[in-house]
Amino acid sequence: MKLSSKILIALALGVAAGLILNLAAPSIFPEVDKFFLKPVGTIFLNLIKMLVVPIVFFSIVLGTAGLGDPKKLGRIGAKTIGYFLGTTTLAIIIGIALALTFKPGDVGTFDTSGAEFKAEEAPPVSETLLNMIPVNPVQAMTEGNMLQIIVFSIFVGFALTMLGSKTKGILDLVEQGNDIMMFLVNLVMRFAPYGAFALIASAVGGQGIPALKAMGLYMGIVIAALVIHSIVTYGGSIALFARKSPIWFFKGFAPAMSVAFSTSSSNATLPVSMKTAQDNLDVPEPISGFVQPLGATVNMDGTAIMQGVATIFIAQVYDQNLTMVQLLTVVLTAVLASIGTAGVPGVGLIMLAMVLNSVGLPVEGIALILGVDRLLDMMRTAVNITGDAACAVIVAKTEEKHGVIETPKIKSAMNE
Ligand code: ASP
Repeated sequence: MKLSSKILIALALGVAAGLILNLAAPSIFPEVDKFFLKPVGTIFLNLIKMLVVPIVFFSIVLGTAGLGDPKKLGRIGAKTIGYFLGTTTLAIIIGIALALTFKPGDVGTFDTSGAEFKAEEAPPVSETLLNMIPVNPVQAMTEGNMLQIIVFSIFVGFALTMLGSKTKGILDLVEQGNDIMMFLVNLVMRFAPYGAFALIASAVGGQGIPALKAMGLYMGIVIAALVIHSIVTYGGSIALFARKSPIWFFKGFAPAMSVAFSTSSSNATLPVSMKTAQDNLDVPEPISGFVQPLGATVNMDGTAIMQGVATIFIAQVYDQNLTMVQLLTVVLTAVLASIGTAGVPGVGLIMLAMVLNSVGLPVEGIALILGVDRLLDMMRTAVNITGDAACAVIVAKTEEKHGVIETPKIKSAMNE
């Protein structure tokens, strides 16, 4: 059986096991969770997380070196950033439009009297962007600061191109390092069905089902917006710009989406999503290595959708009407917040505080959606990484007319 089918079956079994434990045997759930589900899930998560920092470093160095001339790099950079910003803006607009139409906060009564939410201090986006250049690259790696690792790797890749044959030894080393990491991704993925099962069963089993019921409409709207955005924006842009079938795209990328779904972390899924895009969607390594790590860090359409819907929901619950200017402010701050959101579980909710603050809505409102956020986080993370892959496919296809993308390996073989 194919690995992707195994993972999908594991996901379904995980949901079923979680529901059974939740509804029929809630008293034994904590034990099962503590001694079986959590450990298995954690082992899987750590196995893939272990590969993230080296993969980001190796693949971006190779990607930058492979793209070679700065003009090409600039063009690809511009396309990538343009796609990220454009799709994120569309994502929030879809979320806001659905929430304004179906009014999830006006249907039903929500008790806000006990609502409390202590917003963790989210780093200002301007600070994250200013700190992009690492003062100490080794520290950036030990801390796993993605944006800083990306910037350092681009510099190293650029230097390798400029120095040419002088640094061929290092280039070979990086290439072999990358091969080792990609081999390990394959190895770790064999464990994915078990890991995915445990992570999902644990998440579903620990979920308060009554909370889900009360928040049904809100969840439905977030999910609908995620689905619409995936089909219309990603499917549409794949068909339009890459001239490829959306079905081919979603089918090929499904294994990575299911890993994102079970881990709720774009960063942890990165090794798998890169490998999947390279193997199943024909994205050349340098493009995948450049676009996807960047996307996993700054491009979060699913998160933006949740933030858009949640803001409108909270405004409705607190009986506040947002003006057109305020709605535009929400769009703008949600784009920034999704850029500033780190690709790890649950951060989107913390950044939501920033969006709410920007239009003077009570941050305590977040308490209302806290209970159902775990499940929505799984879904939005799957969308987050799909946007990065769609961008990689489009960049790859539209770059074809400028000549083949040479991986450094091909390039040095040609020079010899
Ligand atoms: N879990 C999301 C991700 O890693 C971020 C979030 O929305 O909380 O992509």
